[in-house]
Amino acid sequence: MQETIRKFKEILAKLNAYQHALGVLQYDSETAMPRAGAAGYAAAMGALSEEVYKLQTSDAFKGAVRELLSRKAELDEITRREAEVLGEEMARMDCVPVQEFVEYQTELGLASSAWREAKQRSDYALFAPHLQKLLDSTRRFARYYAPDRDPYDVLLDEYEKGMTQAELDRFFGTLRENLMPLVQRVAERADAVDDRFLFGHFPVAQQRRLAGAVMEVMGLDRSRCALGEVEHPFTTNFSKNDVRITTHYHEESLASSLYSVIHEGGHALYELHTDDALIGSPLAGGASMGMHESQSRLYENLIGRSAGFARFLFPKVQALFPAQLAGVTAQDFYRAVNRSAPSLIRIDADELTYPFHILIRYELEKRLIAGDLPLQDLPAEWNRLYKEVLGVVVPDDAHGVLQDSHWSGGSFGYFPSYAIGSAYGAQILESMKKDLDVDALTEAGNLAPITAWLAERIYRFGKVKTPGELLRNACGADFDPQFYVDYLTRKYTALYNL
Ligand code: ZN
Repeated sequence: MQETIRKFKEILAKLNAYQHALGVLQYDSETAMPRAGAAGYAAAMGALSEEVYKLQTSDAFKGAVRELLSRKAELDEITRREAEVLGEEMARMDCVPVQEFVEYQTELGLASSAWREAKQRSDYALFAPHLQKLLDSTRRFARYYAPDRDPYDVLLDEYEKGMTQAELDRFFGTLRENLMPLVQRVAERADAVDDRFLFGHFPVAQQRRLAGAVMEVMGLDRSRCALGEVEHPFTTNFSKNDVRITTHYHEESLASSLYSVIHEGGHALYELHTDDALIGSPLAGGASMGMHESQSRLYENLIGRSAGFARFLFPKVQALFPAQLAGVTAQDFYRAVNRSAPSLIRIDADELTYPFHILIRYELEKRLIAGDLPLQDLPAEWNRLYKEVLGVVVPDDAHGVLQDSHWSGGSFGYFPSYAIGSAYGAQILESMKKDLDVDALTEAGNLAPITAWLAERIYRFGKVKTPGELLRNACGADFDPQFYVDYLTRKYTALYNL
């Protein structure tokens, strides 16, 4: 047994090293690589990925995982969870015939470039045949893996362990029933909040100083967390001691980079506070997409867009942009960064309308996977739902069904985790308020006790606990979307004097 564990950990260390290298290459390709480097980059990625695949599918590795799984009772908690998580990944891969897997990988590459061109030309027909192939494969793979389960449930499970359509139907049903009337009432009063001063000319050099100041307030230690500049911000990490967040400075917008830094900073805090015992383990990093997103959105919206934090932050922002923000108050700033108006593009949506962009994708995805929605009808259905739910008219497919890359990457079942994350965040914050005076801490810019509370109950566990276990650990209860509904209702009713 000891020999099996030794071999298992040795392969894990090697896999971790390859993944570190792959991650650095990918980060570099988005931040620093000149365009002509693409071919060399692809070759290096291909060669390293092949080594990872060989290791993951080697008899030595599979044998070790099987052996560990058959003697779970003898294992320490971390090794047991490693074997479980990897065993599940193995089972998902093993049930797909190699030929089909290779064809699917090839199709992913084709679909992604077809999507890019389709979006550029706003021509859905270019993408539809690829989407059909990806959908067919995805449905088939889900059936191979769990023939008795609903394929969409199998997919949801991949991103958010334990999440089901039944639970999401309840969740989105609650949002529709309780928040749609609020969205409509706010939309009618869109002019009540003025955010024009957030748009103008904000030199990048000053925005960089603001980003640095925000990272300091959030306790993002620059010796372990770097900030890069990219087209579309993201966070990646190679270990808890090397986390990379990114942002994009828009010279004409003050809030865009500011809140992207806080959002990605929330992701980074999660990684930075994983337990030391998980360094190099596949259990490092967040429990799930939804749990990770709960932490980025908790910092971005629940803390970062709160009235208290606006009072703390605004004087610093104003000092950096005195001419642009002359005559603006902290209260004006608070209202402006929370302005809500139904819109077409998910990634630009405000806190209140955001979950409805996800609701629309969830409804469509569910029908696509069930085979109830022919692909030629997808754009019209997308547009119909945007009109029905958000009251906006979609002018073309580039601003509609083609706007997100997820489906072209074969990620079906991913979208719901964004909305679930926001709702987790609201529930976690309510629980935190029983222990901490969150409003006073936020207004003082003293975020360390908030991060410490989250680290103790959530961050340190990595993937050792499931999202459900973490919620119970932090809140003493199962997931309950009512906290999210109450939070948004309170905030927007006050903000718009409804
Ligand atoms: Zn995020």
